[in-house]
Amino acid sequence: MLIRFNEISPSGSHYEIRKIDGLDIPQECTVSGPVEARCTLTRKGEGKVELHGRLQLTLELVCDRCLCSYGKEVDIDLHLLFEVDAIDSWRVKDLEYKIPDLDTILLDEPELDLDDILRQQVHLALPMKKLCSETCKGICSRCGAHRNQVSCGCPETSTESPFDVLSRLKNKA
Ligand SMILES: [Zn+2]
Ligand SMILES: [Zn+2]
Repeated sequence: MLIRFNEISPSGSHYEIRKIDGLDIPQECTVSGPVEARCTLTRKGEGKVELHGRLQLTLELVCDRCLCSYGKEVDIDLHLLFEVDAIDSWRVKDLEYKIPDLDTILLDEPELDLDDILRQQVHLALPMKKLCSETCKGICSRCGAHRNQVSCGCPETSTESPFDVLSRLKNKA
C-alpha cells in the first residue's frame, strides 16, 4: 500500500493491514495464519511522518539444525520516523540524530510503501539462527537420523578446535 504524505492527516491516519505482499521466501519463511497490523501515521511537518503501530503474525520457519519447519509468533511494536531526504534539511537532521528511541528512515519521495516497511520489520525480527527449540539436537552427521525423534546411538561428533587439527598436522609432518 503506497501512501503519499499529503494523504496523511496531521492528527493521525489509521491503517489496518491483513496481508503483507512479498513476505514469503520459499523454503525459508512463510506466513501461516492471520496477519494483523495496525499503524497510525501522523504528519510532523512538511517532509516528516511518524509511524506508531503493532504488527502480529505467525511465521513458519525452517530450523537450521534439523530442517523441520516450526511456527514462530512475531509481535513487533513499531515506532519509526520517516523523513524526506532533502538537501536543505541536513542541518535539522544533525540535531535530530540525538533522539535515541526513534528509528529514522530517509525517503527520496514524500511517500511510503507500508507493505515494504512491514516486510522489512518482519525480516529484522527474524532470528539470525533459526532453531525449532534451544535444545534441538539436529540431524546426526553420521547416520542422518532425526535426533529429536530417535536416539541413533552414534557417538557424539567430537568438537575439536582448529588448534587440535593443526597440531595433529604438524605431528604428521
Ligand atoms: Zn530443529
Ligand atoms: Zn546417528
